[in-house]
Amino acid sequence: MAKHNCAICGAEVGLMSEQKLADGNYICRKECSKKTFKVFDKVTATLGDVTEHIAQIEKGTQIWNEIFVPLQGTKNKEEKLRQIYGLKDVTGYVSPSTGLMAFIENRYKFFIFGKSTLACVYRVADLYGYEYETEKSKDSEGKEITKHFCIFLFRNTTGMYAPRIEIGSQGDFANIEKYFNELFGIQKTLRNTVNNAKRQINAIKAAASAVKAAKEGTLDEAQAADTAEALDASVYGDRTQWIAKADAALAPYNK
Ligand SMILES: [Zn+2]
Repeated sequence: MAKHNCAICGAEVGLMSEQKLADGNYICRKECSKKTFKVFDKVTATLGDVTEHIAQIEKGTQIWNEIFVPLQGTKNKEEKLRQIYGLKDVTGYVSPSTGLMAFIENRYKFFIFGKSTLACVYRVADLYGYEYETEKSKDSEGKEITKHFCIFLFRNTTGMYAPRIEIGSQGDFANIEKYFNELFGIQKTLRNTVNNAKRQINAIKAAASAVKAAKEGTLDEAQAADTAEALDASVYGDRTQWIAKADAALAPYNK
């Protein structure tokens, strides 16, 4: 049987202990796969996506502990966190006063980065899509069951930029959509302007790879134009204030 090595830690892996990635690399399930969120789709991720995601969690967990955790106990109304209800695998929080939002996953057995709560933190301003999706399957008795999902789409983000999170019902999605539309001052729903979740995910992927390319200094003009076109600002509300707040909060972490 073919043996492979984990592309991150080098450990030898086999059929039961390996996770194959989209680009043909393998990572180990024992250590490295556990460093990612459960909702992070490893089957469609490249090795670069995985390592960016692990870095995102390391940074996000620090920001969670230093910014969000103290705000959980605040008596100041303006600074209160807003929990996003209806999410099943992770818990989501919006911090309107700092312009940040977080998804957290609790680990009861495994401690990573010395913590049992892992977080991915985003600028609220970068959330430019929330899509509803259902998936039908059959249970063990052959009865059809429907699962509901919300796909959150973030621009300017590498790692987990399109988390697809299970929610309880379509009503949960309606609440999430209403909350963010109000937050951004959006009148019509984003769903009506972009009717195809897949197309929007491709736009996000273009944006994510542009972020990566900009970092590496390989961003070309055609790529930049693609990204600009994909991100038509007019339907996303004015986010100037949201960007300013988040960048102020993140300044110590972006050095
Ligand atoms: Zn490994």
